Amino acid sequence: MRLQGKKAVITAAAQGIGRATAVAMAREGAEVIATDVNAERLAELNSLPGIRTTQLNVRDPAAIADFAAQVGAVDALFNCAGFVHHGTILDCSEADWDFAFDLNVRSMFRLTKALLPAMLEAKRGASIINISSGASSVKAAANRFVYGTTKAAVIGLTKSIALDYIRQGIRCNAICPGTIQSPSLDDRIAALGESVGGAEKAREMFVSRQPMGRLGTAEEVAALVVYLASDEAAFTTGAVHLIDGGWTL
Ligand code: NAD
Repeated sequence: MRLQGKKAVITAAAQGIGRATAVAMAREGAEVIATDVNAERLAELNSLPGIRTTQLNVRDPAAIADFAAQVGAVDALFNCAGFVHHGTILDCSEADWDFAFDLNVRSMFRLTKALLPAMLEAKRGASIINISSGASSVKAAANRFVYGTTKAAVIGLTKSIALDYIRQGIRCNAICPGTIQSPSLDDRIAALGESVGGAEKAREMFVSRQPMGRLGTAEEVAALVVYLASDEAAFTTGAVHLIDGGWTL
């Protein structure tokens, strides 16, 4: 029960890393508010003890303001929402750039800014955990131009918040996963499969990027989020936590 007595908000909790984190945090005793734009998939979490769900589109400033007013002070915020665009700079349209920055970075700015005042007022400290990626933020990845650019920005956002609130007990860390099995990864594998001769070949290409020779699991990333949200990580802030099967070695 490493998170007992803590209230946690998670974005993009309907599937993948966000969902696994909602389950892991609740198992450790947290009161979890799991959010996602996809209300239908999110509702599957309602039956689990310790989790309540709220539909939240992190691209909607009015919805974020309403949400922040309802939840009040939280002890942990996991900003997990994000989208992977494929392609180089020449493939990236103005619309792709705007969408990627809005969902992958600006949503973190919006939600953190909305929840931080209550965290500070509560004076019991809090942990903010932002999802970045190993791809292009720490190591370059081919055809991940705008994705990598946004995920590098997440690291800057994280460090800035960490330093500005370090004396008020607010910790802020970034997580950089390698390739993690998730529903959207299956979509990316299917899409790549069309150009490389099948989904199996495409999966092998994703797997081979990790020197460990396998994909990571959402549960493995969730375990890192639990640690960063817990008091065990009390001396850790502004750090970039790689969890990538050795990809960046
Ligand atoms: P996923 O991509 O399969 O699911 C993403 C979830 O985000 C979905 O439930 C979707 O409904 C939700 N979402 C999309 N737009 C939203 C919005 N506007 N508001 C709220 N929710 C929204 O899950 P995943 O692959 O585990 O990825 C989660 C995060 O982890 C992303 O930020 C991704 O960039 C990052 N990440 C993933 C991997 C990986 O290999 N899977 C690697 C590194 C980083």
